[in-house]
Amino acid sequence: LFITLEGPDGSGKTTQVAKIAEYLTQNKIDFIQTREPGGTRISDKIRSLILNPEHKEMHDLTEVLLYAASRAQHVHEKILPALEEGKVVLCDRFVDASLAYQGFGLGVGEEPVLQVNSIATSGLVPDRSYFIDVSPEVGRERMKARYGTASLDRIEQKDLSYHERVREGFQHIFANQEKRIHRVNGEQDPKTVFAEIVKDLDKLLAN
Ligand code: C5P
Ligand code: MG
Repeated sequence: LFITLEGPDGSGKTTQVAKIAEYLTQNKIDFIQTREPGGTRISDKIRSLILNPEHKEMHDLTEVLLYAASRAQHVHEKILPALEEGKVVLCDRFVDASLAYQGFGLGVGEEPVLQVNSIATSGLVPDRSYFIDVSPEVGRERMKARYGTASLDRIEQKDLSYHERVREGFQHIFANQEKRIHRVNGEQDPKTVFAEIVKDLDKLLAN
C-alpha cells in the first residue's frame, strides 16, 4: 500500500505524516516513512541543489528534470523494494507535487511533467493520496510563525501568485482523480484533519 501526502507549503502535511506514522506503529503495521524531494542519499543531494536560494538562474525544465531524477532514485532504491516486501510506504509528496508546482506553478504544463515522471517512476502511482488544502495566505503565515522569512527555501520564497497557481493546480488534479485523491480542509485544527485521514485510512488497511 503506497500512501502519499500532498498540499501547498504550510498545509501541515508534515505534521500529519508524523501522526499517521505514530498511528501505524500503534497498530503494528509494517511501514516506512519517507519524503520528497529526498528520501535517499542521492535524492537528498538533488534536493539541496533544487532548493538552494542562490540558484536563482535555474531553468524551469532543469527543475522538472531534477525533481524527476531525485524521484527515480527514491522509487527504485527505496519505495519499490519496500512495497515488494509488503510494507506500507508513507511518503510526504510525490508526482502530484510536480504537477502542481512545476506543471501549474511554473507553467511547464501537465503533459511534459507527466511524461518525464512516468519514466522516472516506471509508472508507479500511489494507492491513496491525501491532499491537505490551505490558502497560500494561511500557508505563508504558518511558515513565518515556524521559521521566520529568513530561512524559506527557493520555492517557498516565491510570491503569493505563484503559490496560488500551485494550489489551483492541486485542486485541478484532485478534481480529475477523486478516486485516488482525498481532499481534506487543512485550515481545520490538526486533530480534525487527522481524524478525517484516519477514517479513510482504516478502510484502506482493512482491505
Ligand atoms: O515538502 P517540503 O516543504 O519539504 O518541500 C520542499 C520544497 O520543495 C517546498 O518549498 C516545496 O514547495 C518544493 N517542491 C516543489 N516541487 C515539488 C516538490 C516540492 O517546488 N515537486
Ligand atoms: Mg515546505
